[in-house]
Amino acid sequence: MIRTAIVIGSGITGVASAEWLRREGVSVTLIDRVAPGAPEQTSYGNAGLLARVAVVPLSEPGMFLKAPLMILDPDSPLFLKWHYLPRLIPWLVPFLRNARRDILESTVQALLALTDDSVDQHLALARGTRAADYIRKGDYFYYYRNRKAYAKDAYASGLRRQAGFVPNEHDRAELLQHDPNVSARYQFATSYADHGWLTSPGRYVAALAEHFQVNGGVFRLAEVAAIGDGEVTLSGGEVLTADRIILCAGAWSGGLSRPLGQKSRLETERGYHLFLNNTSFAPVCPFMVADAKFVVTPMLGGLRCAGIVEFGGLNAAASKAPLDLLRKRIRQVYPSLTWESEETWMGHRPSMPDSLPHLGPLIHAPRVICAYGGQHVGLTIGPRLGRMARDIALGRNINIDIKAYDPNRFS
Ligand SMILES: Cc1cc2nc3c(=O)[nH]c(=O)nc-3n(C[C@H](O)[C@H](O)[C@H](O)COP(=O)(O)OP(=O)(O)OC[C@H]3O[C@@H](n4cnc5c(N)ncnc54)[C@H](O)[C@@H]3O)c2cc1C
Repeated sequence: MIRTAIVIGSGITGVASAEWLRREGVSVTLIDRVAPGAPEQTSYGNAGLLARVAVVPLSEPGMFLKAPLMILDPDSPLFLKWHYLPRLIPWLVPFLRNARRDILESTVQALLALTDDSVDQHLALARGTRAADYIRKGDYFYYYRNRKAYAKDAYASGLRRQAGFVPNEHDRAELLQHDPNVSARYQFATSYADHGWLTSPGRYVAALAEHFQVNGGVFRLAEVAAIGDGEVTLSGGEVLTADRIILCAGAWSGGLSRPLGQKSRLETERGYHLFLNNTSFAPVCPFMVADAKFVVTPMLGGLRCAGIVEFGGLNAAASKAPLDLLRKRIRQVYPSLTWESEETWMGHRPSMPDSLPHLGPLIHAPRVICAYGGQHVGLTIGPRLGRMARDIALGRNINIDIKAYDPNRFS
C-alpha cells in the first residue's frame, strides 16, 4: 500500500487522479504552475463535451492525400505553421501510417474503453462537490449540409455504429423543431443520446480542486523542473519525494518524461475557441458542425465555438486566422445571432500519433505513472484516466486491457 503521491498538473486528468487517490486515504500533493481551472490549461478552454461517441481518430484512411489540400485551403480547420514542419515529422509520419482500417478499428476499441462510461465517471467524480452543478446530460448533435454529406461521412459513422453508437436521424423539419435558428445551409442532422457537457470546464476543474483541498489534499503552486523515480524537483531547487509520482502535465509532459528515457511522441494539436457572451439565443444541446468541424456548446454566459487543429508547437503565439474562421463559420450556422462581446482562447491538446494516451509506469522509473495524451477527448476521459492511474498506483487490477496505452510503446 502506498501512503503518499505527488500529482503533476491540475487539469482534468490531474485533479481527477489526485481526488481519486485522496478518497483512498493517500496523502496527495497536487502541483501546478497555474491555478486549477486557469485559462492556461487545455482543460479550461475546450468545447466541454463529454463525448462518449468520439472514438474515431483523425487519422482516417485517405488522410495522407487530404491533409495537404486542407492545409492549403484557408477555409479548412487544419492549420500549420510551416517553420514547425521539420519538428512535426516524428509525429506526423506515424500518424499518417496509422490511417489504416485494421489499425483504426483497434484504436476505436481502445478509445471506447475510455469514453464509454465517461458521463458516469464525471458524475461519480463530481458527486458531493460543487463541480456537479456544471454537468449537463443530453443529446449530442451533428449538423450536416444534407443527407448526401452525411452519407460521405459513412466511414466514421460506420465505425461509431460498430462501437454501439446508433444515431437518430433528423430531416430539416425535425432539425428546425430542435433548433429553430439554424440556417438553411444545414438540412440534416444526427443525434446521439446519453451524452453530456460542462457549462464551464474551467470552473468545473476549479471546483474539483477546491473539494480536494477542503478534504485534506494539498495544492502547491509551483513549476516542476524535473522528475525522478519517486521524486520531483521544483524550479527553485526544492526536492519533494513520494511513493508514486503521477505525471498529468498534458501537452507539456514529454519535457518531464523524456529525461527518464521515455521516447515520447507527444505533440500539441493546438485548438481555439471563440466565446460569444450573452448571445441572443442558444441551442439546447451542443452540436458538431460537420462540414466545418467545430463544436458549438451552450455554456454559462454564452456560446462557445471550439475546434481547429493547428500544428505549431507549444511556444508560438496564437494565430488570428483560426479565430476569423470560427467567426465566419458560426455566422453560417446562425446568421441572425447577436452577442455582446467575445473572448478568444488557444490551447494544447496532448496528442500521440496513434490517438491513444499514455497510461502506466515508466520502464526506467517505475514509480512514475504517466496519465496524459487525451488528445481530442481528454476532458471526456479525464476522470477515467485518473481512476486508472490511481488503480495502477495502488497496485490494483484494472478490468480492461491497458497494453494499448503503454507509455513505453514508442521506445
Ligand atoms: C479547442 C479544443 C476543444 C476541445 N474540446 C474537447 C471536448 O469537447 N471534449 C473533450 O473531451 N476534450 C476536448 N478537448 C481536449 C481536452 O481539452 C484535453 O485533452 C484535456 O483538457 C487535457 O487535459 P490534461 O489534464 O491532460 O491537460 P491540461 O488541462 O493542459 O493540464 C495540464 C497541466 O499541467 C501543468 N503543467 C505542465 N507542465 C508543468 C510543470 N513543469 N510544472 C507544473 N505544472 C505543469 C499545466 O500548467 C496544466 O495546468 C479540446 C481541446 C481543445 C484545444
